[in-house]
Amino acid sequence: MLYPWQENLWQGWQQLLVQGRMHHAILLVAPHGSGREALARHLAKTVLCQNGAAGAGGEPCGVCHSCKLFDAGTHPDFHVIAPVQDGKQIGVDAIRQCNRWAVETSQLGGERILLIDGADSMGEAAANALLKTLEEPPSGCQFVLLASSLDNLLPTINSRCNKWRLAMPQEQETKRWVEKQLMQSIKLETVRLNGSAPIATQQFIEQGQDIRYTKLLAVFGDFLRPPNFGLYDVAGLCTKEGHNSLKWLSYFLVDCMKWQQGVTTHLVHSESLPLVEQAAAVIAPMTLLEQIREANSLYQKLERHPGLNAELLIVEWLIGFMNHP
Ligand SMILES: [Zn+2]
Repeated sequence: MLYPWQENLWQGWQQLLVQGRMHHAILLVAPHGSGREALARHLAKTVLCQNGAAGAGGEPCGVCHSCKLFDAGTHPDFHVIAPVQDGKQIGVDAIRQCNRWAVETSQLGGERILLIDGADSMGEAAANALLKTLEEPPSGCQFVLLASSLDNLLPTINSRCNKWRLAMPQEQETKRWVEKQLMQSIKLETVRLNGSAPIATQQFIEQGQDIRYTKLLAVFGDFLRPPNFGLYDVAGLCTKEGHNSLKWLSYFLVDCMKWQQGVTTHLVHSESLPLVEQAAAVIAPMTLLEQIREANSLYQKLERHPGLNAELLIVEWLIGFMNHP
């Protein structure tokens, strides 16, 4: 299934498929929550379809043996490589397995598709192992790499691929789409917190993160006002939520900083703007800057090392607001 914001890019791929000019390694740059896996799978199904992508106008027929196997999730020539867990790397063993699949004969006599979901989370050894295969691509083998950004991809991998960027819809468009799915109105700042990625926004609401986010902001706003009561309430909520809560508070503080400097456009917050305004009035600009920096490095630390005592580190960070009255 394709989503409306994927139509343009899909048409570009279709043209290449119909003309038989598809590159052997496609790199799709798209955020999580953009439906990128669905798009990649649609491409795979189309390439594998036995009625020929070209013949069927660049769409899978849906009735052939290959399409049926694909829909059942048992197509023997379609392989997915992904981190075993969110935030974990794709290891070199997984890529070695991928390289073996790449040189195997196709079970159904057509192409083999290798989908690497989270190519930007390959470790260096894994990336180098993949590079060799990309440099000398086995025939009849289509690679599809998914990445959130190019920042964590080796330039050598990057340069071996045909790159496509999936643009997210405008925020109002995303808002309307999610509202239609959920049959309820949603906040604009929820869309912005999720980078206007529609599915990420929808899940943010479905999983109750928007409610917890609003609650955290209210408690945090109270804490920021002297005499800074409620430190452990904030720390407790943050610890329960995990490292993402630091990203949220960092967005909030960045908006406070902008507000102090008289910037009123390009803010993340709209419905919670009164809270931004109140907080901006009580935090010293230097403290704000320092605490944003600290929040970002603490976020990365907690993301990389889940075993750390998060509550203690968050309490330490929060005390930073009190030392600079
Ligand atoms: Zn088919």
